[in-house]
Amino acid sequence: MSKHHRDSKHTSGTYHLRPEIEARLPLPCTECGRPVEKGQKWHVAHLIPASKGGRTTRQNTGAAHAMCNLRAGGKLGAKTTNGRRRSSAGAREGIRPW
Ligand SMILES: [Zn+2]
Repeated sequence: MSKHHRDSKHTSGTYHLRPEIEARLPLPCTECGRPVEKGQKWHVAHLIPASKGGRTTRQNTGAAHAMCNLRAGGKLGAKTTNGRRRSSAGAREGIRPW
């Protein structure tokens, strides 16, 4: 069976950009705007999110603090979770004092 097809091309592929971005540090964090310094934990982040048509190119990627990036991802996650929760646990939550 041919698996080689799936492997590399279709991943979001920010890894290869990391060294290039690292070389340009410090850069403003895409989330909080504060500088991301060398030696800090940071992630490759899209300036324009892929969901809005942003591409994984050098021009459209920058650095985000690891925490900021996770928080941003968490925000989306929370939204989804909340939406789901509403339907399933909404009735139960009405009983809670808060
Ligand atoms: Zn940040």
